[in-house]
Amino acid sequence: MKLSELAHRLKGELIGKDAEFSAISTDSRSISDGQLFIALVGERFDAHDYLEQVKERGACAAVVSKQVDCDLPQVLVEDTLLALGEIGRILAAQSSARFIALTGSCGKTTTKEMIKLALSSAGQVYATRGNLNNHIGVPLTLSEVSPSDDYAVIEMGASGVGEIQYTVGMTHPDVVLITNASDAHIEGFGSLENIVQAKGEIVRYAPDSATVVLNADDPHFGDWLEMADTRRVICFSLSPDTQNLGVKTDVSLISKTLNELGGYSLVVRVGKKELILALNVAGEHMIQNALAALAVIYSLDCDVDVAASELAKFEPVKGRFYPVQCDGFRVWDDTYNANPQSVKAALETISSYHKPAWLVLGNMAELGDESQQAHFEIGQFAAQHGFNKVFAIGESADSVIAGTGFSGTAYNKTDMDVLLSDIKQELVSAQSLGAEVQILVKGSRSAGMERVVQALVEWD
Ligand code: ATP
Ligand code: MG
Repeated sequence: MKLSELAHRLKGELIGKDAEFSAISTDSRSISDGQLFIALVGERFDAHDYLEQVKERGACAAVVSKQVDCDLPQVLVEDTLLALGEIGRILAAQSSARFIALTGSCGKTTTKEMIKLALSSAGQVYATRGNLNNHIGVPLTLSEVSPSDDYAVIEMGASGVGEIQYTVGMTHPDVVLITNASDAHIEGFGSLENIVQAKGEIVRYAPDSATVVLNADDPHFGDWLEMADTRRVICFSLSPDTQNLGVKTDVSLISKTLNELGGYSLVVRVGKKELILALNVAGEHMIQNALAALAVIYSLDCDVDVAASELAKFEPVKGRFYPVQCDGFRVWDDTYNANPQSVKAALETISSYHKPAWLVLGNMAELGDESQQAHFEIGQFAAQHGFNKVFAIGESADSVIAGTGFSGTAYNKTDMDVLLSDIKQELVSAQSLGAEVQILVKGSRSAGMERVVQALVEWD
């Protein structure tokens, strides 16, 4: 697109020579030849300061909200953040790809990767890189979809009400999916009800022609079903029941057989047919994500058998319920992040292996006023699911241990070394009894629990 056309569409003004831009970037460090720089303004930075730098790196122009004294063509607009959103919207509208937008409290990135893989035989697929799922990441992602892409899978996160309304509005998706809603990241929302509404924005603000894919097992299914209004709804469920709130479940789990080191052989009903899905990742939540992906494939009228054989190639990712077999014990590395729902999902799965199980839990962040209670409940849940040792570290460690009702150990955040040495000591005793222990290591990103995994694996 030409700068002059962009300036016109953004109701801005082109200052300097007209040129064609090939891509957009908001990062002055990684911008390259021919790209258009969007100068965002944050609380602690103002990208207008980097115009000389981006010019040297080969940027063809910049979108600015104040003219900068620099010999680089500039498109002057009121607000560069809104301009970024508008550019995302314009570029998405120009694409002939079918857009799939997904949100949810947990499992967005995993499900996005599963959808991408499941669609890989159906055409060329672009998907959100990593976790670029906010009001900046979504328009950037939309700008990266190429004319040869057949499908684009867009992850949408929210840190407050209204964010998804904004990002789904610029995406104009053909299919929208909500994986689930829970009290993850509750701090920015105030209540679970607000989270349900915020996730629901992906449905309420989807085009009338969009298909809505919903999790029939989620307690908030009914809310989203109502929001779907007259749109076509496809739903998935972990239970073989074919009805929920009077709605037929399109994709459901008929049976599952657990393999020794994670993974399942699943029988899944998709529409009228039954198929076998070999899933190489552990956890009920992974089954849920795979069903969600199949439901998306089904809603797009793609071949579900082919999709299932592609999904069989899905590999566990380090840090996300990743099994590491050590000599005499197994570590489940789930250190990427944690919230009550994802911790419970992990605890539940491990409890199905009938082996002694231990939990090493770092703090679950962003839980606001509910934090102590949520940590207490995790302790309770672990005990109910047969976890016989619990090590908790961080601000809410005492609550976790109190919840277990037995004497686990709570550690201050600064006592990581003591925690590590205690676990090793306990492992020596367990091994002398011939027990092969499974150790779940989990915590929010800020808890840095990967240090525990690293120490255990190195020790082995
Ligand atoms: P973020 O909000 O950080 O973008 P996300 O929604 O993209 O997270 P993932 O990155 O896919 O989620 O997974 C994060 C963690 O959530 C995983 O480590 C796993 O423990 C858990 N998880 C994944 N899928 C589910 C699910 N369907 N239900 C509950 N927990 C899940
Ligand atoms: Mg994510």
